[in-house]
Amino acid sequence: LIVSMPIRMEDGSVKVFKGIRVQHNNARGPYKGGIRYHPNVTVEEVTALAMLMTWKCAVADLPYGGAKGGVVCNPKEMTKTELERLTRRYTSMIYELIGPLVDIPAPDVYTDSQTMAWIMDTYSQMKGYQVPEVVTGKPVSLLGSLGRNEATSRGVAISVRETAKHLNKPLKDAKIAIQGFGNVGGYAAQILHEMGAKIVAVSDSKGGIYLPDGLNPYSVMEHKNRAGSVVGFDGAKTISNEELLTLKCDFLIPAALENQITAANAERIQATAIVEGANGPTTPEADKILHERGVLVVPDILANAGGVTVSYLEWVQNLKRETWTLDEVNSKLESKIVSAYSSVVQTARKYEVSLRDGAMLLAVGRVAEAIKLLGIWP
Ligand code: NAD
Repeated sequence: LIVSMPIRMEDGSVKVFKGIRVQHNNARGPYKGGIRYHPNVTVEEVTALAMLMTWKCAVADLPYGGAKGGVVCNPKEMTKTELERLTRRYTSMIYELIGPLVDIPAPDVYTDSQTMAWIMDTYSQMKGYQVPEVVTGKPVSLLGSLGRNEATSRGVAISVRETAKHLNKPLKDAKIAIQGFGNVGGYAAQILHEMGAKIVAVSDSKGGIYLPDGLNPYSVMEHKNRAGSVVGFDGAKTISNEELLTLKCDFLIPAALENQITAANAERIQATAIVEGANGPTTPEADKILHERGVLVVPDILANAGGVTVSYLEWVQNLKRETWTLDEVNSKLESKIVSAYSSVVQTARKYEVSLRDGAMLLAVGRVAEAIKLLGIWP
C-alpha cells in the first residue's frame, strides 16, 4: 500500500509525504515488521526488508510472516509535533491493513518507542478501546516489554557464544571488534564484556578506537554520551572503520550499516568469525570470498533475530494481559536463539553449505511447508 499524506508543518505550510507498507507473506502468522523514517526509503527497499522479515521470523520459529513500512521523510529536520502528526496520519491511512492478528508494526531506523506509542494511541482511538498488541517496541510504561531495548544485542551476544562453542574456542578473553556503537553495538559490547569476552575495538560514524587489552564498554558509552563519539576515549588508539574491519580478532560484529564487508576488503578480514548484528552488512561477493577463505559468517536473519523475538514476547504478554519479569523474558529469548542457532547449524551440515545458506534453506523450507499445508482456498 502506498499512501500520500498531507501534513501541516510548523510554519503553516502543507507538505505531502509518501508512506509505504509492504506485506510479503503470512503463511506462518500475522505480518510483522518495523517502520522506517528515512529520506532514502523506496518501495523496492521496503519490499526487500519485508521479505527479510519473513525469513527472519521463520528462522527464529516465531508465528509470524514478514512486512515492513516506511515513510520518505527526514526526521532530523522535523519537529516532534510534525513527527507526531505524520505518524498519526500514516497510522490512520494504513489502518485497514494493520491489526493485532493481521500486521503488527515495530520500530526501525529513526522510529522509536514514542513513535510506537503514537501508533498505539491512534489505532486505539479509531477502534474505541485500547489495543496495545497492535504494535511492539512500546515504552515499558505503555505495556512494552522489559528487555526489548537490548534484545537484538542479547541475541547477537548469544550467537557469538554459540559460535565459540561451535568452533571449540573459549569465549573468555576472546577478542571482539564491533563496528557501530549504537543501539545494537553498544549493548552487545556490554553483554559480551559481562560474558567474559574482550572488546578490543569499537567504532561509530566518526571513527574507531582500539585497545588490545580490552575496553570497558560502560566507560566508552559514558564517553560517547559526553563527547558524541567513541573517538578520543582515554588510553585507546584511534583507528579508522576500515582498520577495525580488518583487525586481527576472534569475532567481528558489524553493527552499523549494510554493505560494509565487500569484495574490496573481504580478502583482508582477519577475524575467525563474523556475527552480523546489522542487516545486510556483507555483500554477496564478499560472502563468497569469506566462505572460500574459511571465515565463518553467522547471518543477520539468525544473529539479529533477538529484537523481533522479544517483540513477539511483548505481543504475547499484551494478548494475555500479563507482564513478565526481565529474567522470564531473557530466558525465553535465550532458548529461542539457541534453538534457532542449532537448527541453522544442523541444516547447513546436512546440505554442506554455509550458515547463511543453511538459514535460508531452513526459513524458505518452513514457509514453503506452511503454504503447502494450507493449500489453495476454496
Ligand atoms: P543505531 O543508529 O543506534 O546505531 C548505528 C551505529 O552505527 C551508530 O553508532 C553510528 O555512529 C554507527 N555508524 C553509522 N555509520 C557508520 C559508519 N560508516 N561506520 C561505522 N559506524 C557507523 O542503529 P541500530 O539500531 O544499532 O542498528 C544498527 C544495525 O542493526 C542496522 O543495520 C539495523 O537495521 C540493524 N538491526 C537493528 C535492530 C534493533 O533492534 N535496533 C534489530 C535488527 C537489526
